[in-house]
Amino acid sequence: MYRIGEEEIAAVANVIRNGRMFRVMEENTPVHEVLDFEREMRDYLNVENYFLLTSGKGALIAALIALGIGPGDEVLVPAYTYIATALAVVAAGAIPVVVDIDDTLTMDPKAVEAAITPNVKAIIPVHMQGMPANMAALCAIAEKHGLYVIEDACQAVGGSFGGKKLGTWGDAGAYSYNYFKNISAGEGGGLTTRSRDVYERAYIYHDSSGVPYFGKKLDNLDDYLYVGSEFRATEITAAIMRVQLTRLPGILADLHKNRQYLMDGLAGSGLKFTRSNDFDGDCANILNFVFDDIKTAEKFDALTECGRPINTGKHVCWAWEILYRHRGALHDKMNPFLMEANQGLRMNYDRDMCPASRNELCRHAYFGINPDWTPAEMDEVIKKLRSAAAQL
Ligand SMILES: *Cc1c(COP(=O)(O)O)cnc(C)c1O
Repeated sequence: MYRIGEEEIAAVANVIRNGRMFRVMEENTPVHEVLDFEREMRDYLNVENYFLLTSGKGALIAALIALGIGPGDEVLVPAYTYIATALAVVAAGAIPVVVDIDDTLTMDPKAVEAAITPNVKAIIPVHMQGMPANMAALCAIAEKHGLYVIEDACQAVGGSFGGKKLGTWGDAGAYSYNYFKNISAGEGGGLTTRSRDVYERAYIYHDSSGVPYFGKKLDNLDDYLYVGSEFRATEITAAIMRVQLTRLPGILADLHKNRQYLMDGLAGSGLKFTRSNDFDGDCANILNFVFDDIKTAEKFDALTECGRPINTGKHVCWAWEILYRHRGALHDKMNPFLMEANQGLRMNYDRDMCPASRNELCRHAYFGINPDWTPAEMDEVIKKLRSAAAQL
């Protein structure tokens, strides 16, 4: 989250004064923030189907389930992503197969192609830290092999690839509005899909007890009534998110402006920037550097205390102990790793997997950009980075 203030406070106060904080049967209430936010998001993303729910991971699970993915299926996820991407696959009963990232730190199309077997049903490209994955290449491969594409755009709300919003390239896209994301209500998630059927199935998954109260929300309800979960968003979340959405273009514009200022200030320093699949569509959350070898990256990190993607804990596959230990559920019979349908699928994760990704990630270091930095503050950053670069 970058910006929040009086407007959000007023929006929340309005919901509380109105006394109704619940979205169900909202058509009959004078204030219906969730409905309004969903309409505004459809316009913003230029999509037909979108709904608000409680988390990005909930959106990933609902999308996987709604696409019919489950036991017997493998889903490709990149070596560099928040663990929730892989856990969502397991929550759907399927098996995540980890594939390499490339020098853009996003899913490597070549690695995807090499990992495809008849068991693979879907791929989940992740736009880490606002950096777009190569959606043209990934969608082309998916189409060729009949795979679903579910975009994890949790860290890239507002970003785009080839002029088209991230999350809207694939069959479904997931967004997160938790505290660490571009816009936030503390918690929250969004799901978009180009298929009305997938939308309706996902909608049921996100509120399966509430189905009798859906009114006209679904067209074909009887066809796929089933037990799902409860990921319903509150009116308060939506009230905050409506204000946050109005802030998003300004946040992204200022991130881009500041990234340019920093890059201009670093010209001639010898520092090399990580390649982007779409420099203008990138959210510009970070200034990302790449070094020729690991030692230099480590030294730069030590000198600047910036940060390295390899060190972020749960965002790299080598930290996903829960997968190594096949702890897919508390109850053994609900554990996808033990299910008969999944025997024979690739689940031999270990700490030496994806060595190419490890080598790549180790050589990058990044600096978070603040959209509210003044030129004077950025001059300080530039000075520090230039001084470190001179010592390499
Ligand atoms: C934050 C995040 C998620 C999960 O979002 P929640 O809203 O916390 O459930 C999933 N994938 C990635 C890449 C994320 O960064």
